[in-house]
Amino acid sequence: MTHANLLEVTQQFGSPVYVYDSETIINQYKRLTEAFKKVKHLRLHYAVKALSNLSILRLFNQLGSGLDTVSIQEVKLGIAAGVNPKKIIFTPNGVSIGELEEAVGLGVQINIDNLLILEQFGTKHPKVPVCIRINPHVMAGGNTNISVGHIDSKFGISIHQMPHVLRIVENTGMTINGIHMHTGSDILDIGVFLYAAEILFDVAAKFQNLEFLDFGSGFKVPYHEGDIETDVEELGTKLTKRFNEFCKSYGKDLTLAFEPGKFLVSEAGFFLAKVNVVKQTTSTVFAQIDSGFNHLVRPMFYGSNHDIINISHPKRNKRFYSVVGYICETDTFANNKMITEISEGDILAFKNAGAYCYSMASNYNSRFRPPEVLWHKGKAHLIRQRETFDDIVRNQLEVAL
Ligand SMILES: *Cc1c(COP(=O)(O)O)cnc(C)c1O
Repeated sequence: MTHANLLEVTQQFGSPVYVYDSETIINQYKRLTEAFKKVKHLRLHYAVKALSNLSILRLFNQLGSGLDTVSIQEVKLGIAAGVNPKKIIFTPNGVSIGELEEAVGLGVQINIDNLLILEQFGTKHPKVPVCIRINPHVMAGGNTNISVGHIDSKFGISIHQMPHVLRIVENTGMTINGIHMHTGSDILDIGVFLYAAEILFDVAAKFQNLEFLDFGSGFKVPYHEGDIETDVEELGTKLTKRFNEFCKSYGKDLTLAFEPGKFLVSEAGFFLAKVNVVKQTTSTVFAQIDSGFNHLVRPMFYGSNHDIINISHPKRNKRFYSVVGYICETDTFANNKMITEISEGDILAFKNAGAYCYSMASNYNSRFRPPEVLWHKGKAHLIRQRETFDDIVRNQLEVAL
């Protein structure tokens, strides 16, 4: 999308606003499938939690993607978007057996990540095939909040507990049809990923009725100019070779599955906000926008970087700014950011706003959540309206006091 396209979106729908470019999503999807084209059966499950708008889910359905879901509500969103439940995998963490049963009732594949529920579920429903999520105890991921495969992580069944898993399978007569791992977001080192894959192959060899191996996600995208990203082409070549060798020794062509979120949608998204105030203090220049961490929490929550462009005046000289919001507590999007000189009323575009941005937005400070727009084939389509005051009070009940 060009700067002019982005400005057009703010003129049409106001600010702040999220906009997603369908072409970028489609290209990322194709890039990943291309990297693994030598795998006979490949399945991508888009991780719904990154960006869960129904129109985005429809786009993925059109591309042939399945979905990775982490709550029963995400399962229902996927089905509402027209996705075949057979192409949905439910990978929750720490949910009740009731929620898993509800998902099975809707026809989706479930993934169990603890021994207690595995035993209970296998005893009650020995005929329902389940996938197990293992914890390979490999340290990977950009920071401790998003790396989930290490020894202290709450995710998955430890690889050291496989004898217990096998005992449960034998005692209940249940079938394990898939092995899954998801070691964390932002994996930089392909060697680490391949090392974890070897652990998964070792576990997989112990089970006779597998249909698929799910390697989770963790593909890193660049978050600033010159930033490194996962080399999916190299990963494709190396993992394909090992996967095909494994299938040969296993005696069956299994499906290779991935469940990327960030990789598919992060770079497709822009968050557009207007500068209300430019404030010179003794230590810095603040650019204060008509938004806050209620709309884009990643910088405050994870310390994430989002590059910011002044799309109203992209050619001016650059200055250092602190870009902040209107929330009544520290609410910083960026410190010491070089941005072309900002005037009041300018529109700032935040990059990498496709993944974990709108889906983490809230009404804090009783603000409306912004609208979402899909830029598709050269046109802007509103895919979620800006909230109104009715949305803020909708579920509140007033008592006579
Ligand atoms: C969040 C999540 C993903 C997606 O991770 P990304 O870093 O966005 O690609 C995949 N699988 C599971 C189980 C997840 O929880």
